[in-house]
Amino acid sequence: MQVLLVEDDPSIAGSLGESLRSQGFDVRHVATGRAAIEADPGDVVLLDLGLPDMDGYDVCRAIRARSAVPIIVITARGEELDRVLGLELGADDYVVKPFGFRELVARIRAVTRRVAPPSGEPVPAADAGEVLVAGPLRIDRRTHRVTIDIDGVATAVPLTPKEFELLAFLAEDAGAARTRSDIIEHVWDANWFGPTKTVDAHVAGIRKKLGDGRWIEAVRGVGFRLEVPPS
Ligand code: CA
Repeated sequence: MQVLLVEDDPSIAGSLGESLRSQGFDVRHVATGRAAIEADPGDVVLLDLGLPDMDGYDVCRAIRARSAVPIIVITARGEELDRVLGLELGADDYVVKPFGFRELVARIRAVTRRVAPPSGEPVPAADAGEVLVAGPLRIDRRTHRVTIDIDGVATAVPLTPKEFELLAFLAEDAGAARTRSDIIEHVWDANWFGPTKTVDAHVAGIRKKLGDGRWIEAVRGVGFRLEVPPS
């Protein structure tokens, strides 16, 4: 598995890179935002937000604009607002410095197993060929593509890996209310300790991309459900 490590602190980059390599990861390291945007993102990006040349958020947005690669943000800024902002920008997860190496590896494994496996590896049987349809919305788990039919034309909806999983989870049982904790457990991880606001941030992102906020209805005191908006 190829990891793009974006970190300007040489001591962190050195020890983290070494630890990751010892676990079998193929690590490429860059120390600036500009180099991160130009580099091949590989299978997962570890992105330090505090970079010398660019705001880490802009780097995150730029990588996400051209790739669906899972992005794990590494931040020294622990404030919840920053965390949610990081996720709204298309990051899939984050760790706050200082963090444990084992925690980081668990998160890498979690975000990468939720997206399409690298070429050469078989598609898990449970996901193969599964297409979820709700009105004009089509979610293809095999190709990891979402399209929406607008006036007879299938238009691609570019979702991040987490947005995709969240939408697919709601679409598995369209109309059913899913609780925030159910959503977190299925889309993130059972041992996710982040803010539940993260779910709201992702829902907001999906609504925007689907072009109609009515697709995902908030169920007060419970969570969310997928509803086909009346045309
Ligand atoms: Ca830094």
